[in-house]
Amino acid sequence: MLLRLAKPVLILPVRNLTKKPKSIITNLNYFKSGKSDGPPFTHFVQIGDPVLKEKSQSVPIEEIKSDAVQNIIQTMVYTLERYDGIGISAPQIGVPLQIIAVQFTKSQLEAWSDKMQQERKMEVIPLQIFINPKISVLDNSQITQREGCCSLHGMSCRISRSSSIKLNALDHNGDPVEVKAKNWTARTIQHEVDHLHGTLITDKMEPGSLVNEYWNVINRRHGDFKLSYQGIKEGPRKWFSSSKFWRASD
Ligand SMILES: [Zn+2]
Repeated sequence: MLLRLAKPVLILPVRNLTKKPKSIITNLNYFKSGKSDGPPFTHFVQIGDPVLKEKSQSVPIEEIKSDAVQNIIQTMVYTLERYDGIGISAPQIGVPLQIIAVQFTKSQLEAWSDKMQQERKMEVIPLQIFINPKISVLDNSQITQREGCCSLHGMSCRISRSSSIKLNALDHNGDPVEVKAKNWTARTIQHEVDHLHGTLITDKMEPGSLVNEYWNVINRRHGDFKLSYQGIKEGPRKWFSSSKFWRASD
C-alpha cells in the first residue's frame, strides 16, 4: 500500500488557457507550430506516434505554476478521466515533458472481481500528479502480470515489475513529495514513469504474451467490430470555467 501519499489533487486552479507565456516549455517544438489542433491533445496518442519513443524533458521548477504547465496537467487529468484510465503521462497527450498522473478510484477497483483484487493486491490510489519523478527500487523481487496501456488501446501483455518502489517527485505546486508504493500501485507508477523514458509495454513484455483483448468479440461478431479512440465518457468538464479551451470536436 501507499505508505505516504502526496495530498490528493481535488481541484486544480483554473487558468486562462489561451495565454501562453514565453518559457522553456512554450519553446518546445510542440508549441511552436501555433496550430490550435496540436498538443496537448485530449485523446491518448497511439503506438507509432514518435512522441511515445522520446525521452521526456524535465520541467524547471519555476515553470510548474506557469499557465502552460498547469494547462498540460489539467489536460492530462481531463483525458485520464475521459478514458477512465488509471494513469497518464504527458507524452501520451503529445507533450514530451516529465509529468505523470495516477488515479485508481473506488468504482474502478470494484469493477474487478474480489479474487483479482486480492491476487493483484489492488488498492485505491487518490489522484496525484508527479513531476520529474525518480524511482528507487526498494524490493526488486519481480511480479509478472498482464497490463494494458491507453496508448495500445485494446491490447495487453505480461510485464515483470519490481514489487516495491520509492518515488521522489514534485507535485503540481512544485512541492517535493516522496511516495513508497508496493504491488499494484508500484506497478502503476512504474508503467507511467516508463513512458517518460520512451518505453512502452511492448518493449518490456514477456515474448508472445501480446493479445488483442477483443479477439473473442471480433469472432463472435464475424469481424463487425469497431474500436473507438475517443474515450468512454465525458471528462470532468466541471473543473473548467471556460469551454473555449476545449475544441469544438472534443
Ligand atoms: Zn501506458
